[in-house]
Amino acid sequence: MPLPTKLGYWKFLRSYRGVKTTLQRAGRIYARYGFSPRQLIGSISEFIDHLQAQGCSLTLPVTAQVVSKFPRVFRELSRTGVEFAVHGLAHLDYTLLAPERVERDLRQALSVFEQAGVPVSGFRFPYLRCNRALLQILERLPFEYDSSIPCFWPKHLDILRHGNGVLHRMIDQYQPTSPERVPVLPAAQGPLVELPVSLPDDDILFDRIPAKRRNVVSGIWIAILQEVHARGELFVLQLHPERYRFLKNALAAVLEEAASLGGVWIAPLGEIVRWWKRRREWKPALSFADGRVEVVVDLSPAFQAALLEPARREQPEPDWQAVVRDGHYRYRGTLLPFIGLGEGVGTGFESRLRDLGFYTTREFPPRQTSVFLAREPEEDNLRLWLRQLRAHLPGPLIRIAPWPEGYCCALAITGDIDALTIQDFFHRIHEY
Ligand SMILES: [Zn+2]
Repeated sequence: MPLPTKLGYWKFLRSYRGVKTTLQRAGRIYARYGFSPRQLIGSISEFIDHLQAQGCSLTLPVTAQVVSKFPRVFRELSRTGVEFAVHGLAHLDYTLLAPERVERDLRQALSVFEQAGVPVSGFRFPYLRCNRALLQILERLPFEYDSSIPCFWPKHLDILRHGNGVLHRMIDQYQPTSPERVPVLPAAQGPLVELPVSLPDDDILFDRIPAKRRNVVSGIWIAILQEVHARGELFVLQLHPERYRFLKNALAAVLEEAASLGGVWIAPLGEIVRWWKRRREWKPALSFADGRVEVVVDLSPAFQAALLEPARREQPEPDWQAVVRDGHYRYRGTLLPFIGLGEGVGTGFESRLRDLGFYTTREFPPRQTSVFLAREPEEDNLRLWLRQLRAHLPGPLIRIAPWPEGYCCALAITGDIDALTIQDFFHRIHEY
């Protein structure tokens, strides 16, 4: 595979960003970065303080190249409790590079963070450009999570109707998933957990489309938060520290909305992933007597269990009971409230069901579990499939809620650091 040339980045800018926007942006970039890193470090520190004043923290993916130039800065910042993640060795579109080169770069990036004394457990690809092959490379490295797959919430973006060419090219570049088809939740992929990034981000709203008024940006982000809250899902918000000072009021408005909605868990990505891994491991204790099964779930790891029940039209009285007592969820009934899987269901779909909070089993005969899937559904719209499952549920299903007790959705504030000085920013063009 030929290695990309220096022109790779120009080509990327021309195809996806447009020459005019790129030049306009160059002027704005000059105002945001200085020739010394002081200006941007000031923004990063204010950003961190903003979150810490609210009793929470954030995740800042940063390139190893930037860390290697300013190791003391990042070591000291990481001691304040902020989480850093790896954002590539340099700010490259890794989909254009040979796999061997990608793996070498990423291993080198990890050793830069290690030598600088900056702990990391996660990754985000520059430009959110990634694919299955790149994620497989990440799986071989000691990362716990990736947060690069974008999902796009278009509903409140009226500006889209005006047919903004730049925005359409950007969306085309990101190829985001649709929250109307896929629940926006962390998803385990092998040893990695993928945390979808919600778009539009600050880059799209503030630089690419004329949503200049700050209240337009906060209005769109608040609308996403409200939807995420109603669905009990995850909002990974992206605000680059270079725009923090322009959008701090929009961020304040989002945090205020989170407080007024209630039950919003604001946490860095690493903390969300540690919870997610623990939650995926939930295991019931089973005992059988008199043709009935008793299922006990220990709720002490902050699990919240609920029973999805079938429409009871045909059955006046359900033949099961479920109670919460002494920190345990106890179910008694004739059917196991789980999803039984046949040979036609692969481990990938099984993993999605676990992410959704269901307990899956291959140990019991089809008639013993409330739901049995002989094969994977043909429907690739997972949200629609779930709605259909619930509408025609043959028996009760235990589901562990996505978030720890006391929370109904999660919000992670993230901000990629691509450069600290204007020289670094423009150096990206020559990085190939
Ligand atoms: Zn970046």
